[in-house]
Amino acid sequence: MIKVVLFDLDDTLIDTSKLAEIARRNAIENMIRAGMPADFGIAYHELIELINEYGSNFNRHFDYLLRRLDLPHNPKWVAAGVIGYHNTKISHLKTVKGVRKTLLALKQMGLMLGIITDGDPVKQWEKILRTEIEDYFDDVLISDFVGVKKPHIKIFQKALKNFGVKPHEAVMVGDRLYSDIYGAKNAGMKTVWFKYGKYANRELDYLDYADFQVRSLEEVVDIVRGLNSEEREERSDKEVHAD
Ligand SMILES: [Mg+2]
Repeated sequence: MIKVVLFDLDDTLIDTSKLAEIARRNAIENMIRAGMPADFGIAYHELIELINEYGSNFNRHFDYLLRRLDLPHNPKWVAAGVIGYHNTKISHLKTVKGVRKTLLALKQMGLMLGIITDGDPVKQWEKILRTEIEDYFDDVLISDFVGVKKPHIKIFQKALKNFGVKPHEAVMVGDRLYSDIYGAKNAGMKTVWFKYGKYANRELDYLDYADFQVRSLEEVVDIVRGLNSEEREERSDKEVHAD
């Protein structure tokens, strides 16, 4: 019997990649509006390179951008970038289509729900609180807080322990074949690959670890219902044979 459904956060429950792209564009536009003498295309390209090199949680993106563009360090331009980025984050942060409907349906079926996500704990909590999805979840595991990142088996085992369930009683849903699907499968869970966002056609070497593939989150409800009714049938078959 499936008792727990675990979800990844970025690009599974929350539209993070799309948001980040718009936020970065708006940051550059706002810096140019504040007087930064740079071409939008060149500045945007430099910013993307910088994020790839230093990571998305580096907190001096805009300072370094000015250095890369050989521009003087003007704090007004940096502030404009920060404002452009944050305003977009506040106005554009949204759940993926069908999230609330899916979570509600699973709750009504009596399932426990959890989140397993990598990333900066404060930033991840900010996404959960801003989109007001916290109440659906019984447990939230953030790797930087737990001390192991997906796909390490320990983070999945920790979730199972917190919920008090066996691996075969849990389903993991995520957009990354490597960190979500391969990791959860190694821990013995059922896996649902959500083909969504920039990883929808990547990491295909790990495709064999996906028990199911979906294009819409709402399909998860039918998958769980199917798994549980299959098991119910098997059990009643056994009972009939025992008679
Ligand atoms: Mg993800």
